[in-house]
Amino acid sequence: MFTVGDRHFLVDCGMFQGDKIKESKNRDPLPFDPASLSGVLITHAHLDHVGRLPLLVKKGYEGKFYATAPTIELLELILEDALQIMMHNHRATGAEVIYDATDIAKVMQRCKPVEYLEKITIVPGVVCTFHDAGHIFGSAFIEVEAEGKKAVFSGDVGNINVPILRDTEALPANIDLLVCESTYGNRLHEEMTNREELLTNLISDAISKGGTLMIPSFSLERTQELIYELNAIVDRKHLLPRIPIFIDSPLAIKATRTYLKYTKYYDQEAGRLVKSGDDLFDFPGLVMTETKEESKKINSTPGPKIIIAGAGMMTGGRILHHAMRYLSDERNTLLIVGYQSEGTLGRKILEGHSPVEIMGERIPVRCHVKSVGALSAHADQNKLVAWIGAAQPKKVVLNHGEEYVSADLVEKLKTEANVVAVVAAIGADEEV
Ligand code: ZN
Repeated sequence: MFTVGDRHFLVDCGMFQGDKIKESKNRDPLPFDPASLSGVLITHAHLDHVGRLPLLVKKGYEGKFYATAPTIELLELILEDALQIMMHNHRATGAEVIYDATDIAKVMQRCKPVEYLEKITIVPGVVCTFHDAGHIFGSAFIEVEAEGKKAVFSGDVGNINVPILRDTEALPANIDLLVCESTYGNRLHEEMTNREELLTNLISDAISKGGTLMIPSFSLERTQELIYELNAIVDRKHLLPRIPIFIDSPLAIKATRTYLKYTKYYDQEAGRLVKSGDDLFDFPGLVMTETKEESKKINSTPGPKIIIAGAGMMTGGRILHHAMRYLSDERNTLLIVGYQSEGTLGRKILEGHSPVEIMGERIPVRCHVKSVGALSAHADQNKLVAWIGAAQPKKVVLNHGEEYVSADLVEKLKTEANVVAVVAAIGADEEV
C-alpha cells in the first residue's frame, strides 16, 4: 500500500502460496479497510499478486483496477481457476471459500486497461506509468509520481533472453523509493548463452530412456514459452524426434489463446515469426488435452512422451495424477523449470525427499529429477543488481523473497552497486 496525503492505494493483492499453514493466511482478515482505497494497480496476473483482489470488492472497495490489457484477460482466467481450487478444497477439507463468482465479475467490470508508458492520473496529483517488466505476458513495473517524489514498484522482474517477451525496461532516473522483488536475490542462474540447446539436451536425455518426461509448469508464461521453444526445436529445426507432447492444463490452454490475441506485445523475434506465418503455439505432435477424458488418454500413449501440466509447484492440478503414476519409475524424468516455494511438493522432490505423499498415498521417487533455473521467470542476482544499480534509487525495500535470500541481496547491492536497501517487514512504513 502507498499513501499520498490522506489517500491510500494498493499495488497487487495476492494469495499466499505454499503449504497449508501459509495458505491459511488467505483467510485472515485484511490488515486495512478496502473501502478506504482510492485505486488499485496490478503488476501482473500471477496468483500471488492478484488472488485476493475479489476480496477487496467483497469488503467494500468501490474503485478501479488498473492493468495492461493482457493482464486483465489473464486475470479473469486466474481468478476463476482460484475459485475452482477453493471450492475443491472446501469440499475436501471444509476450508472457507473467501469470495464468489459475483465478486470476480465485479473486479472484471472495474478493470481499466493501461498501455505501457501511458501516463495515467489515478486521482489528481497521483500519476502512474506502467513499464514492461518482461516477467510474464502483460507484466509491468509501476512508476508512481506524486508530491514531487517518485516511487517504483517492481512487481516481479523478468529473466534475461526470455522468448516471446520483451526485455525488462530500464528503471527511470531519480527514484526516491524502489520496492523490489528478490525471489532469486541470492542465486545465479546457469550461464546460458543458448537456452534452446540446454532444453534440447535435457529433453533428448530424458526421452532416450524411453519413459515419460514430466514438466510441472506454471500455466501462465512458462507453458507458452515451452510450447514456443518446442515449436522451434521440433518443428522448425528438427533437433528432436517427433514424440507426443501433451499440454495437460485447461488453464494453460486458455491462457495460450490470450497470447495469440495480443501479438503486438511480442518481442522482435516472435513478432517476425508471426508475420512469416508460423503458428507459434501449434505443431505436429503437440496435443492440448482440455477435458478430463482427453487427459486420461495420455496414460495409454506409450513412451517416450512429454507431459507439461500444472500446477507449477505441484501443489495441485493434473500434474499430481501424472506424478503418482510416473515418479516411481527410473525410466521417467521430472524436469523442474520454475521457482518452488518452501513446503510445496515440487520443493520436497527437488530437495531429494522420498517417498513423498500425493493425495494420501506414499510414492517413492525413483525417476530422474532435474532442475534448470535458467528457464525461470525471475531475474537472478546479477540481473537485479545491474538493473537496480544502473538507476541508483535513493532507497530500496526488498520484498517477495525468503528472508535470508533478500538479506543476501541487501549485501550485494551495497558492495557492488553502492545502493542502500532494507528487507521489507510486514506492517513497516517507509517515508519519502
Ligand atoms: Zn510473478
